[in-house]
This record gives sequence, structure tokens and C-alpha cells, in this order.
Amino acid sequence: MELFPVCTEGVSTDGCVIKSDRGQRKSKVSREVEIDIEILSKAVPQLAKVFRITDKIGEGTFSSVYLGEAQMLDGRREMFALKHLIPTSHPTRIAAELQCLTVAGGRENVIGVTYCFRKDDHVVIVMPYMEHQAIVDIIGSLSFEEVRLYIFHLLTALRHIHQFGIIHRDIKPNNFLYNRNSTTYALVDFGLAQGTADTHIELLKDLTGLRKVPRPVFGERNLNSCTRAPSTTKQAAIKTESVKPSKTEEPASRKCSSVSRGPLPARTQSSGQRPQRTVQQGLTCNCYLTDRVCNICMSRKPQVAPRAGTPGFRAPEVLTKCPNQGTAIDVWSAGVILLSLLSGRYPFFKASDDLIALTQIMSIRGSRETIQAAKAFGKAVACSRVLPRQDLRTLCETLRGRRPSPDDEVTPLPDANEDSTVTRHHRVQEDTPTHRPTEGTLKQHKGGAGESAEREHSGNTETTRLKQSSETDCKVKEDVQDWDRVPHEAYNLLDRLLDLNPATRITAAQALQHPLFKDL
Ligand code: ADP
Ligand code: MG
Ligand code: ZN
Repeated sequence: MELFPVCTEGVSTDGCVIKSDRGQRKSKVSREVEIDIEILSKAVPQLAKVFRITDKIGEGTFSSVYLGEAQMLDGRREMFALKHLIPTSHPTRIAAELQCLTVAGGRENVIGVTYCFRKDDHVVIVMPYMEHQAIVDIIGSLSFEEVRLYIFHLLTALRHIHQFGIIHRDIKPNNFLYNRNSTTYALVDFGLAQGTADTHIELLKDLTGLRKVPRPVFGERNLNSCTRAPSTTKQAAIKTESVKPSKTEEPASRKCSSVSRGPLPARTQSSGQRPQRTVQQGLTCNCYLTDRVCNICMSRKPQVAPRAGTPGFRAPEVLTKCPNQGTAIDVWSAGVILLSLLSGRYPFFKASDDLIALTQIMSIRGSRETIQAAKAFGKAVACSRVLPRQDLRTLCETLRGRRPSPDDEVTPLPDANEDSTVTRHHRVQEDTPTHRPTEGTLKQHKGGAGESAEREHSGNTETTRLKQSSETDCKVKEDVQDWDRVPHEAYNLLDRLLDLNPATRITAAQALQHPLFKDL
């Protein structure tokens, strides 16, 4: 298939030839990175004609990003980010990522695309390089004004892509590059993007047709053979299930997959047992809220809904596998980022699976509220205990150390001596003790943790501040007082971004009109 803009020569999209430069590589990079650069240069030989690849600047599951320097015809040297997609990426997926960049990129805080190389199944997307700082490194020294601007610019990018019917699906600081010195911002990584029903991105429409093997939710497993006594299992109970049959949507995978699911095994109704619950297809079973799984449940086809992204940034409708997901999911993620920046804790939610993520959300936004919102979008969520909704200002100020005795003020999370039934669609699920929801959010924040690739943040403003350069130190001293003057509008906006119900959640366009930004 044709990718746009694909080129096998050193010709840029604006038509001018970029002169190659094969100077000596700086010897700072590790041997490992050097090897990777060599491998890439062999795989896509055209690259070396244009770029001096000097470093690897990003590595994820789906790509590696390199720094390339090109000597332009006018003599300037320019830096580019070269995103090498894993060769197993689905061609439509790659083309859709490119189309998002070409259609929406290059303005409104969305990264642009300069170029694209392809050789066989290797694709390299060339973007302007943007120097940036990792949020985890600077969160302790950011002023409130910087946070306000950051969110404003993130919302600007979201409004822009949402206008094109693009749902980014992976909004998180790693994908929103921030250069603190030049106050520039760039949304990157459309590798998980999906289209709304009326998307302007033609290739995003094609993605909905891509087959994907239904994959269970993280942490979802059948415990038929390991029925532990309730007394030995310690978790708050959550279950989510569909309360109305809904269209199953198969999201396009980033990876190519030719495996398709075979027919479902025949379902049998266990005789002599009183049906306790009617499920979607009218089949009944007895395992509801017990710590075992019956054959009916075992043969049930898992509900498939798009759920790409990072658990801690996923909206409740994503976590509960609601099939109708829209641009509101990105707004939720922006809310999680704002919560993180206001509280000074990054990442805010650290969850290894969706059920833990949902429990953590409930511990902040309230379990009753979550249950009610889920009902509105067609999901039943249950929690074995009531988790009260927290006041966002109190929460953030406490975590920031601006209120005394955090442990006394912040409502404790559900504790460990609850029944451990975590069910979805009548499947009993459990998690390993290390993944207990009870260890969620606030407790974890004491240490701070994140996506495995991310460094730990001490969570201690003082310590973090000491690590900053003296230049930054001055800035911190100047700006740090503004944390005493966080206007109520900030928490009001946060509350609107973290609306549990996507139907009433503020949109990016509306959020930009929020009083918090009235002077911008
Ligand atoms: P992935 O799909 O693997 O997450 P991304 O597009 O998010 O790939 O890129 C991974 C990382 O590479 C980013 O988090 C960022 O640090 C870096 N990166 C990506 N694009 C650029 C760019 N244009 N300029 C500078 N760094 C970039
Ligand atoms: Mg990324
Ligand atoms: Zn069952």
C-alpha cells in the first residue's frame, strides 16, 4: 500500500533536496544505541543519505525514536526526530498515524511531519525535533502559572485534533512534549488514534474494520481452578458488567494480527440450579458474586471495546469497556494530568490493570458517583465498600504538603480485609497481592511510581527542588508562592475534566473558554 508522504530519495515534502552529512558521530551514546543506529541504517539505507543519526531519544512498545541531524541546502543544520515503527505495525495503522500528522499536525501544538521513509516493512516518520523535559523531572519545581499554561496548550491541541474527529487515545505527559524554556508544546504519537463516527481522517475509518483478537482486560483471568477461600483474599470488590447489550467494536491493533477467533463453544445451562442473574444473551448462571467461575461464564465471549492507552490515564468508560467512546476520553486524560500537576504527584494513578485503575478513580471521585455515571453509559459497577468523593483542593493541597497531616485529612483507601471478588460479566477475577487496589493512589503516592520506563519521582518538593539547576532554583523561589494562590477556577476545571460521565464531561473547546483561562 502507498504511504503518504513516502519517499525513497532525499527529497523533503516541500521539494528541496536535503544534503547528506556523514560526519563523525558523537561518541557519547552507548554501544547499545550505536548498534541500534547501525541496524536502523542498514534497514533503511536512504536515511544515512540525509541524516547523521546521533542518538536514540525514545523507545516504546511500538517504536524507537532517534535524533537525526540534516544539513539543509541553505547551510543550516536541523534536528529531526526519526520514529522507526516496529515492522509488525499494521500498514493501515501506520498510514493512519501519518494521515493524522499530515492533516492535523504542524499547528495548534500538534507535531508536524516532515517526511516518511519506507524500505520493505520498515517505516520511519520524520518530524521536527522538539527538545523537551520529562514531566517527572520538573514536576516538583513547576509553578502554578506554568501548570495553567501547560493545560491550556494541551487543551488547544485536543480541541484541534477533536475538530478533525481524531481521538488520540494515549494522552499523557510522555506524548505531550513540553519545552519549559521556550514554552513550546507538541502533541505526538498518533499510533493509537481512532476516529469518531464523522472523522475527517479517511484512514481512521478503515481502522475500525481491522480484526483484532479479543484480549482480556489486564488482570482479568479465570480462577476456576484456584478458588481461594474469601478469608485468604484481600481486596475491595469491584465488578463491572454490561447492563444492556451493546455493539461490539473491534479496535484496530497496532500490531498486525491474522489470528481470528473461532466459533464459541456451545453454551450449556446448568440444570437444577436456580438462575440468579440474567446475562446478555439470556443465559443464566450461578456464579455471580461467588468466588468461582462456571462453564457458562468460561465460554462467554469477552466484550471487546477499544481500550488502548495507559491504565492510569484511562477514562472510566474505557476502563469499563464501554463500546461507545469518543473524544471525551482524551479530555479525561487531560484531567488526570491536571490532577497530577496540581498535586505535584506524577504519575497520579499508578495502576497495573483496569480494575485497579477504576478503584483508584473511585477513591478520588467517589464510588457512588462512579457507579451512577457507569449506569448512565450502560455499565454496572459495584464496589464492596463506599469510597467517598474527595474535595479536589483539599486532596491536591494535602499531597502538595500545603496542608498538615495528610493521613488524617485524606480519606483512607479501602483496606485490605474485604472479600476479593472482582468480577466482570460474571467472571471472578483476582489480582495478585502486589496489585491490590487497596494500595492505590494516595498510598502509592508516597513513593510515586509510574509506567515502568519512567523514573521515580520522590514526591517531595523540597528534595526535587534541590536537584534543579541554580537557574531553575531562582525561578522556583520566584514562582513557588503562586501555589498559595491557586484560584478556585483551577479546581472547578479539574472537576469538569474529571467528570465521570463522558456525556456531561466538558469538551476541550469548552474548557478553553473556562474562566481559568480568561486572560489567555
Ligand atoms: P511511541 O508510540 O513509541 O510511544 P512516540 O511518538 O510517543 O512513540 O515517541 C516516543 C518518545 O520519543 C516520546 O515520548 C518523546 O520523548 C520522543 N519523541 C517523539 N517525537 C519527538 C519529537 N518530534 N521531538 C522530540 N522527541 C520526540
Ligand atoms: Mg508515546
Ligand atoms: Zn457464571
